[in-house]
Amino acid sequence: MKTVKVKGKEGFVIGKIVCVGRNYAEHAKELGNELPDKPVVFLKPASAVIYSGDNIIYPPFSEDMHHEVELVLLIGEKIKNGDVAKSEKAIAGYGVGLDMTLRDVQHELKKKGHPWTIAKCFDTSAALSNFISAEDYKLTLDEEIVFAINGVVKQKERLNKMIFNHIQLVEYLSSLMSLEAGDLIFTGTPAGVGKVNKGDRLTAQITGVAKLECGVE
Ligand code: ZN
Repeated sequence: MKTVKVKGKEGFVIGKIVCVGRNYAEHAKELGNELPDKPVVFLKPASAVIYSGDNIIYPPFSEDMHHEVELVLLIGEKIKNGDVAKSEKAIAGYGVGLDMTLRDVQHELKKKGHPWTIAKCFDTSAALSNFISAEDYKLTLDEEIVFAINGVVKQKERLNKMIFNHIQLVEYLSSLMSLEAGDLIFTGTPAGVGKVNKGDRLTAQITGVAKLECGVE
């Protein structure tokens, strides 16, 4: 059982993890993808979760694991077909996460038209910070999301560059499936994704919101 810690609140048991792809224009471009008119959606299992201080482990079936730093939303109550107000209210907290991705495996799967599961769901592929409560912190989208390898910045962007903002994502996703307390939403990564290597120190943060640090082995 994996949980999420929220400052000043009881922990949430993690349900499903819904991930959004291609939510920053520059990132879609760098991978040669067209801009979506609806968010691209996939899932990760809770078994993939690790926390700040843990190591990300290279699976034996990949030689090209990429970092994707993302704003992560914690859902605090059940929501289905939410409007804007309900969608905003359903968000219980904010954190920063790494959606680790096996780019070589994903490339092969894309070519065959297969689902991305093998490239996205391996153990340690969802690294999470602690979360800040949405009651204590109002997200302005002026916050900056930053990721570095061994102190060298690789990804840096303002959250207002998201094509679909956090509320629009909850609204859309809740029209596809019920979201429940403890579900997480990975909101997509900005440009600058690239390979991590064994021995790297990875740091991620959203200014004023959350911080995360992981090794790679
Ligand atoms: Zn991602």
